[in-house]
Amino acid sequence: MRVVAAGAGVSAVRLAAIERLVPKALAKVRGPFEGVPSRPFDVVVHRSLDALPEALRSELHPGTPGFAMLGRDEVHLVLDEVQLRPPHDLTTVLAHELVHLLIDQYAGEFAPTVPRWVHEGLAQHLSGETYLGAREDDLLYPAAVGRLSRFRDLARAFPDDEAGRLVAYAQSESFVSFLVRKVGVDVVVEAIRRSTELDGYVGGFALRAGTPLGWFEDEWLLWVRDESGARWRFFFQNCFSYSMIGGLVLLALALIRRLERDDRARRKLLREEQDLEQAESEDTAP
Ligand SMILES: [Zn+2]
Repeated sequence: MRVVAAGAGVSAVRLAAIERLVPKALAKVRGPFEGVPSRPFDVVVHRSLDALPEALRSELHPGTPGFAMLGRDEVHLVLDEVQLRPPHDLTTVLAHELVHLLIDQYAGEFAPTVPRWVHEGLAQHLSGETYLGAREDDLLYPAAVGRLSRFRDLARAFPDDEAGRLVAYAQSESFVSFLVRKVGVDVVVEAIRRSTELDGYVGGFALRAGTPLGWFEDEWLLWVRDESGARWRFFFQNCFSYSMIGGLVLLALALIRRLERDDRARRKLLREEQDLEQAESEDTAP
């Protein structure tokens, strides 16, 4: 493994710090990938987006500080985009991008067929953080109205629009974590090497797990809708809004009651004055 600076502006101290972080990040995620890394890899460090060569800019998603160049055994970091907190801190980004690199080496001849959702699902699950701040709770509404993508539609690419991409990351992480809970991370990873000519990873998973992936997908969808707790989290997160609306309704009702009370009192007073006037006019009548 080498950590190299691409262009000026990357200090030796910073490179040394990254060099110390790489083995820690690798140790965190390499467990399920038997026999890899099997080839040396480079961590290429860029100072800023401006310093990133034109040809590489399309590889970096907005708001993220790193990407992996599969087939080239390279992880690229853009220092100015790194944040202090997960998921875009150095350790998490390194771990996430290293998973992509490990999958690519582990897959060998099957590398081009590994679905994108498997890549991103494992990268998020093993690094311990979701990407772009994607959350399982973001899946609740699309799941309820049947608007989640099927995983076969996330095999080659994620949606281009920001909202669609966020949901794709969230559902990849959620589904892979669900599969890991059901069959174990080794089965999820080993299915990559069992990929079949006809069905790729889906075929490999069915062989390794003994149950079709589609069955787990249906189970996962039900789980997201009914058991994941997302519905309650959504409710409690919006509790403040609901209580504000409820408070305003109660205030409006109290105001209406107060106005009705005032109106009744005003009319009563008017009636009494009219009675008094009538009594006085009867007294003074000849
Ligand atoms: Zn990724």
